[in-house]
Amino acid sequence: MVVPAALIQSLQTTTGFQQETFEAVHESGEQVVSIRLNPSKEFDTAHLPIDENVNWCEYGRYLKIRPIFTFDPFLHAGAYYVQEASSMFLWQVILQTVPEPAGKKVLDLCAAPGGKSTLLSSYFKEGLVVANEVIKNRANILVENCSKWGDGHLWVTNNNPSHFQAIPEFFDVLMVDAPCSGSGLFRKDPSAVEEWSESNVTLCSQRQQRILADALPCLAENGVLIYSTCSYSREEDEAICDWLLEEMEMESFPIAIEENWGIVTTSSAAHAAFCYRFYPDQVKGEGFFIACFHKKKGESVTKSKYKNLSMTSKLQVQQLQSAIQLSENLSFFDQNEAIRAIETRWLQELSILASHLYIKKAGIEMASMKGKDIVPAHELALSTWFRGGFPLVELDLENALSYLRRKEFSAKGPKGWSLMCFGGLPIGWAKLLPNRINNYYPAEWRILKE
Ligand code: SAM
Repeated sequence: MVVPAALIQSLQTTTGFQQETFEAVHESGEQVVSIRLNPSKEFDTAHLPIDENVNWCEYGRYLKIRPIFTFDPFLHAGAYYVQEASSMFLWQVILQTVPEPAGKKVLDLCAAPGGKSTLLSSYFKEGLVVANEVIKNRANILVENCSKWGDGHLWVTNNNPSHFQAIPEFFDVLMVDAPCSGSGLFRKDPSAVEEWSESNVTLCSQRQQRILADALPCLAENGVLIYSTCSYSREEDEAICDWLLEEMEMESFPIAIEENWGIVTTSSAAHAAFCYRFYPDQVKGEGFFIACFHKKKGESVTKSKYKNLSMTSKLQVQQLQSAIQLSENLSFFDQNEAIRAIETRWLQELSILASHLYIKKAGIEMASMKGKDIVPAHELALSTWFRGGFPLVELDLENALSYLRRKEFSAKGPKGWSLMCFGGLPIGWAKLLPNRINNYYPAEWRILKE
């Protein structure tokens, strides 16, 4: 893979750039593979070719080779997420900037497919993480990945950044992993080179400013902004940081790094913002850029509107809770003929968000009621709130894959709804009948690859 000459030229005076090794690592075709484990879903990792830990993220692991992830039921169970290692540096950033995560409200503004959102969700266990994606079909992938991750405090919205201006000062942390020219992924995806151009770098830079300006009002005073890209271009990186300091009343925040991590610290030209660059010839990961800020001044806050939620009737909650054991402190509401649960402490937040935004997923869909029958929802199967109430049926690899393909499979268990599991982790529902098994794996998520 040959890096565009114009990019090489533009990087000549960029701190840390070493042309020879940078070009060599792109020509090598070498691939670095890494995953991030889900701390809420323990499983036996023996089948994965795990090499070493990712230095800056306690749940990050490098793999020696790239397995065919699609054929690993644990991936579909949300036991891990395939994530590029440099991006996992976000873990270090929040560890150092938000040492007390409990009760914090976090917005991941450009979230699909969900790598950063699931990481944030694992850190803000006692908080609320809203993962937003503006593009509709990408928002569906985000819902899928967040549902598999299984955390009820990880919600999904499908909105334009400007829509968040309706909730000024709402969030304590704002993550903007901005759409960019993508040069940092050239080694991983050589086809990205064809889409790269200097004019696209300029367009991306303007769009990044627009996105940030639109979203910043929803960040509280003293709140934390984390800005990242997978571009090497200063126009999209340090120059944006300078603009944030100059025009948007933000304050730069340093992150402590260890020398042997290979991360390059840079300083923006005009206002010396602390910036962190990841070059693939110097770190074990792809190209990445990240910087962190505090918001100095708040907005004038108008009272937020509330939407009345349609709470589930007491009778139905009793019916549900007598059939399904769940974690405590949940409240139940009705949406699209299904019952959903959220932690009671986030009820007010839900009613504010619901009055301004298009919520694709809040909390966990539990079930729908068909008369006296309870039809359990797929989100419930994957949720960390599920504590029992249906028989668990362990499948072997072959049957688990047939189940995930939504094909016929065999399983032994009592008649009725059962939770299909692989390696002890739930993967979805099936109904065992006297002469057949109904497979309820969601059609749109099924494995297509043979
Ligand atoms: N954070 C994601 C992750 O870690 O998996 C990757 C996000 S990707 C770098 C940028 C995202 O921004 C894409 O999903 C893209 O659809 C979205 N996007 C594109 N244009 C946008 C815009 N004008 N405003 C907000 N988001 C946009």
